Amino acid sequence: MKKSDNSCAIKQIPFGRPILGEEEKLAVLEVLDGHVLTHGPKCKKFEEIFADYIGVKHAITTSSCTTALHLSLLGLGVGAGDEVIVPAETHVATAHSVEHVGARPIFVDVQRETGNINPNLIERAITERTKAITVVHYLGLPCDMKAILPIAERYGVAVVEDCALALGAQYGRDAVGSMGVTGCFSFYPSKHITTMEGGMLTTDDDAIASRVRKQRAFGYDQGYGQRNVPGIYDIVMLGYNFRMSEVQAALGVVQMSRLSDFLKVRHQNTKILLERFQEIDLVTTFPIVQDSARSSCYCVNVMLPDTDGYIREEVVARLNEVGIGTSVHYPVALPLSTYYQQRYDCRPTDFPIARWISEKTISLPIGPHLTGDHMLYIADKLTSILKM
Ligand SMILES: *Cc1c(COP(=O)(O)O)cnc(C)c1O
Repeated sequence: MKKSDNSCAIKQIPFGRPILGEEEKLAVLEVLDGHVLTHGPKCKKFEEIFADYIGVKHAITTSSCTTALHLSLLGLGVGAGDEVIVPAETHVATAHSVEHVGARPIFVDVQRETGNINPNLIERAITERTKAITVVHYLGLPCDMKAILPIAERYGVAVVEDCALALGAQYGRDAVGSMGVTGCFSFYPSKHITTMEGGMLTTDDDAIASRVRKQRAFGYDQGYGQRNVPGIYDIVMLGYNFRMSEVQAALGVVQMSRLSDFLKVRHQNTKILLERFQEIDLVTTFPIVQDSARSSCYCVNVMLPDTDGYIREEVVARLNEVGIGTSVHYPVALPLSTYYQQRYDCRPTDFPIARWISEKTISLPIGPHLTGDHMLYIADKLTSILKM
């Protein structure tokens, strides 16, 4: 392997940096020069491209992944008195969307090997109030759907996929976002592609798609483009304004054309880093391939050696000092966060793995803004920090 010989030249390695070029700028200007600024042809185009990529009938633009999750639960009819199973270690949006519809998140611990929800713990969390299981493809590695989908079917509960970090991940022949009743994606700046803020809901279910489209836009009976007489509509349900603008969708269309290149670099960078870590044998990482699951490689999550000598915050500070940006996924196991702990009186001992991941791991950058030399630099610096 090539030796890192330009380590002095590397000054700053941000954890995430969106790649936006001339094409994006032109696409945005085109929208600004036109007269349709929201729910117009760019959103439609983005939805078509996305549905095609995931392999589903419907893709519906939203204002964020959070609102896509919210609309999914509304579309499934989840409400007050219902329960939704949620992994204990995830972005807070996964649980908040359940709270927003008046239901209760039931937290389930995750697997030590992957950070994904532990299928063996799902069944005992199901009650007659359970309406859905939200799975999160943790840092891009698809969950064990072969185990989860049959459980959901047996109990008649829906599966919602939180794919915020998993655009481009595959489970056998299936793309993530095509296996559950709905899939929810995020286009926040640090994710695989960006529309600044933005999200997408995917589904094969016509009835859910129709309801989601209405509730995304105030509960109108007909969408903007479907009205016979402009300005004339009826309101058939309680709805929200969770739409995406044309500028955002224009960015999304261009970003989708770059996705396969982005994914290629993410895989290459991840491989270089993982190989190097294997050689030096100091830290452990989550796999990027497991059975038929192939990760979208959001970042490389390293677990510090299981001895007391390493304090994560110190290692992070040292990495940051030498210009390596880091993140933590996610900094608090949700049942132990102040809001959820106080609301449901969750016991810390019930979520040992989620807690361990939240306290012990560091997320390292591998995004398309970085090269193989950056990876070697990161590996070298982390090694010397840990050997200090
Ligand atoms: C980022 C993220 C979200 C929230 O996405 P937004 O588009 O910012 O609402 C939800 N779930 C997971 C797993 C995430 O990482």
